[in-house]
Amino acid sequence: MRTPEDILASLFDAETLYQQAPCGYLSFYPDGTIIKANQTLLRLLQYEEQELIGIKKFPQLISKGGNIHYEMIFRPLVAMNHSVKELSYDILKKDGTILPVLLSASTLKDSKGNVRAINAVITDNTDRKKYEAELLLARRQSENEKLTFQYLADQIPEMIWTADEGGHINYVNERFSQYFRLRQRKVDLNSILSRIHPDDKKNFTTTWTTHIGSGEDLHSELRLAYEPGKYKWHLVKAVPYRSEGRVAKWFGSCVDIDEQMRALKQKDEFISIASHELKTPLTTLTSALQLLERLKDGPMTPMIPKMIEQANRNVKKMTALVADLLNVSRLREGQMPLNKAPFDLGALIRETVEALQQQTTIPIRFEHEMPVLVNADTARVEQVIVNFINNAVKYATNSPTIQITITNKDQVVKVNVTDYGPGIPAEKLPFIFDRYYRASDSGVQYSGLGLGLYICAEIIKRHGGKIGADSKPDKSTTFWFTLAAALPQM
Ligand code: ADP
Repeated sequence: MRTPEDILASLFDAETLYQQAPCGYLSFYPDGTIIKANQTLLRLLQYEEQELIGIKKFPQLISKGGNIHYEMIFRPLVAMNHSVKELSYDILKKDGTILPVLLSASTLKDSKGNVRAINAVITDNTDRKKYEAELLLARRQSENEKLTFQYLADQIPEMIWTADEGGHINYVNERFSQYFRLRQRKVDLNSILSRIHPDDKKNFTTTWTTHIGSGEDLHSELRLAYEPGKYKWHLVKAVPYRSEGRVAKWFGSCVDIDEQMRALKQKDEFISIASHELKTPLTTLTSALQLLERLKDGPMTPMIPKMIEQANRNVKKMTALVADLLNVSRLREGQMPLNKAPFDLGALIRETVEALQQQTTIPIRFEHEMPVLVNADTARVEQVIVNFINNAVKYATNSPTIQITITNKDQVVKVNVTDYGPGIPAEKLPFIFDRYYRASDSGVQYSGLGLGLYICAEIIKRHGGKIGADSKPDKSTTFWFTLAAALPQM
């Protein structure tokens, strides 16, 4: 029977402490022959004592790579320093599997200083290795995520950036770098600021500074130069990222909103033009009616039919303007049904010319007798011809004639309306079929909403035809459209 005193004594027994220590102990001769190993190590390596002691040499317990390390580093280090600390080795267990360990060793010398044995402390390094592997994996994952983010950020067609808590930009994507022509994405604040439109710079810097202070989301519209003197509207947005209640970073973007801003400006201009255009005939109509009101009970004077004629003309003007507006909204909603039927386009032009000739002194010439059949919406095609002729009358007041021709080539019918007026400058020509576009700056001189040609283009497009204009300023201007020829009915 072991008394409690025996147990207590065994606790302090050096041999027990050696055998049961939480780390492995191994002693071997300088040639590597194992002399002693404690129970902890035997358990870790799954060996029995008699299988190691005097049988195996230490290098036999370590992997091939470890052996090279043992010869090249461990032995010279031990010979020189008489000790080594926490060297990492893969030790082979009895079943051939690997146990990662940390090994510290010191030499045991005789009185003459000769190394007689080496004592090694071996600790299981599995957890640490696992931890290191996990750390490596986490690092790789985070690097991968970073690469994915960078790839994404660089593919985005908009500019994105980040700034530190003080608002200093510290990351920009490829698009940003391209726009501001940064070298190796090095952010140069002055070169960025120099690209902001002078009229927007002060407002933007004040707003940005205020937002950095308050930590509120930023939304700001400004013009950024893409070439010296040429600007595009951008929406700058920045949202703060908070850590422990404080702004740690800003995530920002600059989105090109130039088209929307232009459209908005165009709409504003359109509203003012439309109001003006409607107001002018309305004023004339009102004064004509007021005059008629005064004259109504008196004798008939030549003034009365003149006033009625004036009122009618202005009502017609307003009706035409309202019709254009209605046409545009119908087109926007995709509601412009075409009532197609075969008809002679030549005859339609002749009738239109005859009607419009009454309203102008400029001779309108059209000499074509042969029928030209098309399958189209007569009223809509007439609208296009009227618009072309009316524009020629309106914008080419000094033109000696207005010439209309029609051709039929390879089943494509082409109508040309040519005037010899001031024409349209080449840089404006591509836009004249756009909605609200008016090429002449003198908006007051020529009334109009800039909708006529847009409606014409939509009508022709819906018929599957083409529309265009060629202009040699101060020489001649030709507006044309094409339609597919219809085969004569048998
Ligand atoms: P609006 O006549 O109401 O302005 P349009 O869409 O019919 O609108 O025409 C667009 C613009 O094209 C006009 O404002 C005018 O500047 C230009 N334009 C059209 N026809 C002619 C022409 N025959 N000669 C010169 N400019 C023209």
